[in-house]
Amino acid sequence: MLSTTIIDGKETSRKTLQSLAEDIEQLKRQGHTPGLAVVLVGEDPASRVYVNSKVKACEELGIYSQKWTLPTETTQEDLVKLIRQLNADERIHGILVQSPPPRHIDEQAVILNIDPRKDVDGFHPVNVAKLVLEDPTGFVPCTPLGCMELLRSYGISPQGKHAVVIGRSMIVGKPMAHLLMSRQANATVTIAHSRTADLPALCRTADILVAAVGRPGLVTADFIKPGAVVLDVGINRVEDPTRPRGYRIVGDVDYGSVQPLCSAITPVPGGVGPMTIAMLMSNTVKACKLACGM
Ligand code: NAD
Repeated sequence: MLSTTIIDGKETSRKTLQSLAEDIEQLKRQGHTPGLAVVLVGEDPASRVYVNSKVKACEELGIYSQKWTLPTETTQEDLVKLIRQLNADERIHGILVQSPPPRHIDEQAVILNIDPRKDVDGFHPVNVAKLVLEDPTGFVPCTPLGCMELLRSYGISPQGKHAVVIGRSMIVGKPMAHLLMSRQANATVTIAHSRTADLPALCRTADILVAAVGRPGLVTADFIKPGAVVLDVGINRVEDPTRPRGYRIVGDVDYGSVQPLCSAITPVPGGVGPMTIAMLMSNTVKACKLACGM
């Protein structure tokens, strides 16, 4: 029986933050304090939780933070005005507008107004281009960056491997595929999506399988080549009357049936999730260093 490494995102995130704290200390000694502005428009409870945990992470690390909570009826014009104000604020190196904004806000238009040098989410077209160009001065979306950091810290080299990424979003799937195919990682990459024919057969050819779909339990044992590495990005709420909250969080992978077949796998929760915030902090420190000419 294959023994499976359970990739511990909490521990890896803790180590990443610890090493960032040392970087921040050094920056502060040189008179520079990294700063992040987090903007939330509306009342979405999940977004509120995400924003609070980002601000808390800043406080714990000694990153200067601003939290802007705007009412649902905020106009696009007012939001853009705030973004421009933050672009001009020298204390702020990173700007993040929590997704999704209310429906009357054009998210892409808002992103275009963020100074690409402060776009720590990596959503601005300049940063998308820099990712494709493999320009190290760009910002890469935090979740796929976190996946790569997990592979790196567990000594899993993608070189020469076949990686299949399920999902083609701009936030996870596409940047993940680019990172895996980059000259640093050297995997051979296939992107699968909702119209892919015979998804299980394709996935069975994967040495590294990344699931970023948003469908609980989509990836079952028949998707897995024995010994594959599985990264489960999905965060899905499923009803669970046995839990006090009435639900639990699961990934896109049917963990019970898949885990015994893998050489390594990320659990949900506790896998990819904790890495996302750590990478946001890392991008903010990088933005500060670049702004200071380091
Ligand atoms: P999305 O809805 O933008 O994209 C989902 C992708 O899955 C699409 O490209 C679609 O083509 C594909 N897809 C849908 N149904 C499919 C099917 N049956 N078979 C194959 N492909 C299918 O979602 P997203 O923003 O990329 O997020 C994906 C998941 O990752 C969600 O569960 C989300 O909550 C989670 N997520 C987690 C983190 C984290 O920090 N861990 C961050 C971002 C997103």
